[in-house]
Amino acid sequence: MKSILLILILGCSNMQTLDPNKSHHSQDGFKNLDPNLQAKSLFDVLVWQIGRQFKNLPSLDAKDYQIETFVNDGIKLKENQKNFSFTWVGHASVLIQLEGKNILTDPIWSERCSPVSFAGPKRFTKPGIAIENLPKIDIVIISHNHYDHMDLPSLKILNEKFKPRFFVGLKNKSFLEENGIENVTELDWWENKTVDNIKVNFTPTQHFSARGVLDRNKTLWGSFVVQGKENSFYFAGDTGYFSGFEEIGKRFSNIDVALLPIGAYEPRWFMKPVHMNPSEAVQSFKDLKAKYFLPIHYLTFVLTDEALDEPLKYTKIELEKNNISKEKLLDLKIGESKFFP
Ligand code: ZN
Ligand code: ZN
Repeated sequence: MKSILLILILGCSNMQTLDPNKSHHSQDGFKNLDPNLQAKSLFDVLVWQIGRQFKNLPSLDAKDYQIETFVNDGIKLKENQKNFSFTWVGHASVLIQLEGKNILTDPIWSERCSPVSFAGPKRFTKPGIAIENLPKIDIVIISHNHYDHMDLPSLKILNEKFKPRFFVGLKNKSFLEENGIENVTELDWWENKTVDNIKVNFTPTQHFSARGVLDRNKTLWGSFVVQGKENSFYFAGDTGYFSGFEEIGKRFSNIDVALLPIGAYEPRWFMKPVHMNPSEAVQSFKDLKAKYFLPIHYLTFVLTDEALDEPLKYTKIELEKNNISKEKLLDLKIGESKFFP
């Protein structure tokens, strides 16, 4: 009961006046770039959930999948002082080592992504590295406030242990500060801030935000382009396919690695506006003109109706259809690291 009350209160937290000259700002909160995009209603959620009862949904039994995961002890990561590297923790959580700095994306170590610890989507796979084995974290970037991306218990531990700089979209700062998270920087789309020679740019996505029932789109969602002197990466968080990828590709012409979500896309009638499928993810990779494609947002939490092993299988097929070399795909296993020379 307490947590429900808290969600309602947070949902009502005051909306300061935003900039009326920006098309994604409005009196009621934030909007996507596509003005015709229709948000799904609670009724649609109900239709989806009822429809599921009559569908033959894929198995949730681990025995039906051959999933190879690693337990990364973090030793090599702690020793690495200069190589550009990527380690998939699971879901949208990736540890990136860029020019001596350690950066985490949408960190989640919790067993469930939910407002309560006893219910909600449960992990199918364990995090690939224990939070206590991480190297010293300098920067945490958070794409939006959904529970599978903004996991308060993990953020609190990271804040306590490393005192990193946290980056979020507009209007997310007060919520984090109320929960004891320090050093939070808020950015609007196309804004940036440089810390320790790392330039963090916030860029659009096509998505939405909400933690309760009354706070829909009151906080801004988005993606990041993170640039060092030599290397850079793009982190999409959660997004539907949209024209913004081409624009990001134009403004940031030399992205090395694009971290793109490939899961949580079925049923399409419901998910398409907010989650890409593998074919759209491959198109977004082409639009961004990045050198490498690192797939995320699959194999960890079961949020939608496709089978757990389907997203990567289809991504490989789509890459081949588009004549994109296999070498460009960094399909890390959970816990696995890729070090660039
Ligand atoms: Zn989301
Ligand atoms: Zn998500």
